[in-house]
Amino acid sequence: MPSHPRASRSRRQTKTPPLPTSPERRRFRQRLLTWYRRHGRSLPWRHTDDPYHILVSEIMLQQTQVDRVLPKYTAWLEKYPSLAALAAAPEHEVTAEWYPLGYNIRPKRLQTIAREAVTRYGGQLPDDEETLRSFQGIGAYTAGAIRSFAFRQRAAILDTNVARVLFRVFVGRGEPKSHAMKRQLWQLSAALVPVRDAFDFNQALMDLGAMVCVARNPKCLVCPMAKGCKTFRGSPLDRP
Ligand code: SF4
Repeated sequence: MPSHPRASRSRRQTKTPPLPTSPERRRFRQRLLTWYRRHGRSLPWRHTDDPYHILVSEIMLQQTQVDRVLPKYTAWLEKYPSLAALAAAPEHEVTAEWYPLGYNIRPKRLQTIAREAVTRYGGQLPDDEETLRSFQGIGAYTAGAIRSFAFRQRAAILDTNVARVLFRVFVGRGEPKSHAMKRQLWQLSAALVPVRDAFDFNQALMDLGAMVCVARNPKCLVCPMAKGCKTFRGSPLDRP
């Protein structure tokens, strides 16, 4: 029996596009890394591989712009130079130290992670995804960031900026915030992250989303991904 036309249309709309081919992935990585080496931002958490420092930066950046995080990141690490120091601090002091970043669940989360690391892992953060995600307050994104930035593993990340870039370049249609799309974008991120250079690649994706493929008025005319991007905004003649 033929299926209802509306049903088949909806099946067509939700069909997942294939992952990029190997040459497409290579091209994407090359363009991204070339752009990053010229335009990437120099940020203090990019000059460390201390997992605790990476964790602090990631939690601070979850709800706050980079320029507001910068002074607090330095001050925080002076006050609490290790997971052990943070674990031992009085809770009211930790919350006060967080000011003025706001969204005060974050210092509590950080201290909970620090205490668990001290109690269960000798004051260190583990390097595998399963154990990292067993910590209350470490989700898929933060685990990927710690693994790729601190332990230099081939680990994918997906935050708001990265999701926007991948959606625009490779998908272009559909509901970017749906659960199904999020799953698809995680798969894309995992397929694209290279074996080598995972650190630079992930940092570059975040920078492209923060500096070029911004939420409003993306700067398509200066974007390294313009050629082939499914959301390019400009005349086709403008593509590089
Ligand atoms: S071409 Fe435009 S939409 Fe596509 S990734 Fe670049 S800035 Fe974003």
